Amino acid sequence: MKLSAIPTTVKTTCPYCGVGCGVNAQVGQDGAVAIAGDAAHPASQGRLCVKGSALGETLGNRGRLLAPMLREEGTLREASWDEALDKVAAGFARVIAEHGPEAVALYVSGQLLTEDYYVANKFMKGYVGSANIDTNSRLCMSSAVAGHKRAFGEDIVPGCYEDFEQADLIVLVGSNAAWCHPTLYQRIARAKQERPELKIVVVDPRRTATCDIADLHLPVKPGTDVWLFDGLLGHLAAHAADDSFIEGHTTGVADALDAAGKAGSLAEVAKACRLDPRDLERFYDLFSNTERVVTAFTMGVNQSTAGADKVNAIINCHLITGRIGRPGMGPFSLTGQPNAMGGREVGGLANMLAAHMDLDDAAQRAALQEFWGSPHVAAKPGLKAVDLFRAIEDGKVKAVWIMATNPLVSLPDADQARRALEKCELVVASDIVLGTDTNEAAHVLLPALGWGEKDGTVTNSERCISRQRAFLSAPGSARADWDIMCDVARRMGFKGFDFQSAHEIFDEHARLSAWKNGTDGQRRRLFDIGGLSGMTRADYDALDPVQWPVRTPGERTERLFGDGRFAHGDGRARFVPTVPRAPAHLPGGEYPLVLNTGRVRDQWHTMTRTGRSQKLAEHIPEPYIDMHPQDALLCGVKAGELARVTSDWGAVVARVQHGGGIARGSVFMPIHWSGQTASDARVGTVVNPAVDPVSGEPEFKHTPVRIEPFGVT
Ligand code: SF4
Repeated sequence: MKLSAIPTTVKTTCPYCGVGCGVNAQVGQDGAVAIAGDAAHPASQGRLCVKGSALGETLGNRGRLLAPMLREEGTLREASWDEALDKVAAGFARVIAEHGPEAVALYVSGQLLTEDYYVANKFMKGYVGSANIDTNSRLCMSSAVAGHKRAFGEDIVPGCYEDFEQADLIVLVGSNAAWCHPTLYQRIARAKQERPELKIVVVDPRRTATCDIADLHLPVKPGTDVWLFDGLLGHLAAHAADDSFIEGHTTGVADALDAAGKAGSLAEVAKACRLDPRDLERFYDLFSNTERVVTAFTMGVNQSTAGADKVNAIINCHLITGRIGRPGMGPFSLTGQPNAMGGREVGGLANMLAAHMDLDDAAQRAALQEFWGSPHVAAKPGLKAVDLFRAIEDGKVKAVWIMATNPLVSLPDADQARRALEKCELVVASDIVLGTDTNEAAHVLLPALGWGEKDGTVTNSERCISRQRAFLSAPGSARADWDIMCDVARRMGFKGFDFQSAHEIFDEHARLSAWKNGTDGQRRRLFDIGGLSGMTRADYDALDPVQWPVRTPGERTERLFGDGRFAHGDGRARFVPTVPRAPAHLPGGEYPLVLNTGRVRDQWHTMTRTGRSQKLAEHIPEPYIDMHPQDALLCGVKAGELARVTSDWGAVVARVQHGGGIARGSVFMPIHWSGQTASDARVGTVVNPAVDPVSGEPEFKHTPVRIEPFGVT
């Protein structure tokens, strides 16, 4: 790979998890890239986890997609950009002309930069005229988005990472932060070391590495979080309610308490959650008696058919105690991906508009259309990820453009996703590598810039916008995702896609947020980066990490909800009634065990980047099934042997292990391995496709399965 002309030390941001650590990258004379933590970055303060530290090993041209490619009669051949982009533009235009705008779709990714995401949304919602643009973030945090919108009136994570250090109780729900948000976990562990009185409760069916610092581990029965927090809500109503906050700043407490009452007594909740009643009482008392409480949650909460309700059940407990909007307290959604939050800012989900505007609000659609000068703005929500791939298989969506994601591995019922792409008339994939399962199904492959090559911004879990900066030149003829999309948009005759740089796109994004607030009447939206508009290219290039809102240039960080005002029209937060309900599919009969899927410490998503590092592969070199020894005995399988995991949706083979942290009745498998191995190792083929009715997020954590010997060791 050629080096750029002047790479010294470049400050950039890690492209993996939602913590968003600052990285100092330095290209040596030999082309090797040295990686170090950026002590000045507020999210990480110099820390990097093992994945971030190994970034230098994942670079280079090996396996990269270096030129556009077209598949003809099953064979890929190299093409010019003109030929490839003409094919994409003509293909999309033809389908729109023949079948309407709802027959095309974009499926994008939290790996995209905010500028890419902005252009993708403008392209689809403003010019194609369909909201059929969804993202792999649907799979990880859309339940949090739905919960935030219902409770707060806007998709807001109110806290910041410092709150973890200022809290006296941290409740981690469905979060193995030690492996999945490692540097944040390190901050928590250090706070615990310095202040042993800081209490940590981990709510997780598995005894994960995160439990090493826990004062209390609650191994809840999978899928029972609403019971747990509904029970807590009743307990708090009796022991710790902040009547003045409830009266002055919320609505709906009576209905929420009525619904929560259905969870039953403490003994009944303990039974439903399969917990020791004494542990449950200890947790409830701890929460009641501690003012500074942060409740952080992630995939174990979100990835459920009751995901949005789980989020609201947690938020309800903070509203009833008034523990929100002040230092060291509040509900805290930890995002999975590096730019899940940035995608949300620009309307990166099929049911959202840019700048936190509402798709179902005609006045906001009109305002956005005026700002863009676009022919229309999509007036109805588009298809969410799982529904999108069903619509492709049904022939309703005939052209799809997939960017920076690998849905044939990552979606639930992944074989359905494969069937869908096999039937689709036009599949376009923008990617940095060749040979993923998804790319193997594409008719057009477009080479995109990767980390270290592309330029733009990302927003982490605490709403901190950071620059990702280029320090390597483009490999082959790869181009930025926004640049590729703008080229296609122009070829389709769309105006408003003449951007020359990521800086110009960011400026439009920032101006839109200010414009939107000017059109919102009395309603003051909290997402606002108007203070970052009008930056020069040099200002943008030098931009330090900054947490939104930034309404005016140089504005200091604002404690959201600190004034007790929320984003609903009446300024009040909503208690959302949450009635406990079981997961969509229950174990029994031929599928007696529950499959829970998740991440391992040293891999990321479908391993297209982390899989290139030998060091990272050494941690866990192959897929595995973690199960309790007694369940293994009953299934006739042994640790170290291969076993087949089968559900109603598919089967996958992996090696059995007893990690020690799993309860009877459950098994765990990591999500990272793909179909590009000797045997198809996509755990997604087994995962059930049921989704949350509110958020559309799939139930990755609860699929009934059976396990049998594979017969080969
Ligand atoms: Fe930080 Fe997450 Fe990257 Fe690790 S993976 S360095 S914790 S952003």
